[in-house]
Amino acid sequence: MKVYLNGKIVDESEAKISVFDHGLLYGDGVFEGIRLYDKCVFKLDEHLERLEQSAKAILLKTPWSREELSKAVCETCRANDLTSGYIRLVITRGVGSLGLNPYLCNDPQLFIIAGNIKLYSDEDYRNGLKIITVPTRRSNPSALPPSVKSLNYLNNILAKVEAINAGCMEALMLNDQGYIAECTGDNVFIYQKGTLYTPPVYAGALNGITRQVVIEIAKDKNIPIIEREMTRYDIWTAEECFLTGTAAEVIPVTAVDSREIGSGIPGEVTLGLIKSFHNVVNNQGTML
Ligand code: PMP
Repeated sequence: MKVYLNGKIVDESEAKISVFDHGLLYGDGVFEGIRLYDKCVFKLDEHLERLEQSAKAILLKTPWSREELSKAVCETCRANDLTSGYIRLVITRGVGSLGLNPYLCNDPQLFIIAGNIKLYSDEDYRNGLKIITVPTRRSNPSALPPSVKSLNYLNNILAKVEAINAGCMEALMLNDQGYIAECTGDNVFIYQKGTLYTPPVYAGALNGITRQVVIEIAKDKNIPIIEREMTRYDIWTAEECFLTGTAAEVIPVTAVDSREIGSGIPGEVTLGLIKSFHNVVNNQGTML
């Protein structure tokens, strides 16, 4: 595999950054996960905009323009002869001292990996995921805003471990007020009495690119969509539930905390949205 590292395409064996990089020492950096479908990078501009906003939020100044990053992403895909796949773009704060002071880091590092990802099995997509609410809460926005897609994912990892240890592949995370925020790597939606609901970003959700795509699809289909605070009761009693994410795409959820959702099989609305989602991703994007 070829990796993009600070302006060069190198072999993965040479794709290395310093052990003194604050990305490694402190999780100090930002990233994006992006999809390539049929030689087109899906929603590249939206991902790069979110990356810029994440970097701005953590006062990480980078020398790369959106156009340079866009070219680098495409170059990495071409270097790996990739037609479809998953792209990971990472910017770290770079090397500084062993202390925290980010202003001593003057050389941010950029690397891009283009490969494949499969989070869930085909069976999970067919039958739906069973998920569980975990004790670990989503970080309070006044501590670390979940809207920042930073390299600091320990909050999500702790939740993921709790889910896996309970036999589930994804965890439902609440915010510190007990409202539903999101899952460890996905946004969550429910369908109830003709309307779709998803938690607002201020409830502790990442403003997912896939979430936005699904909101647009729902509007096109004239399905009312409301962003509002949601409780576990709302999700337990929903007719349908699904998760969205760049890696997961759109995946049905058929049980939450051992409660069957609807009749325990993926619902009609969810299946319709999945179909439309695949139509959308196969018909647009930045060509390599
Ligand atoms: N929430 C979290 C915590 C995430 O890491 C992600 C991305 N994997 C998402 C939601 C979904 O966002 P997107 O659709 O932009 O991938």
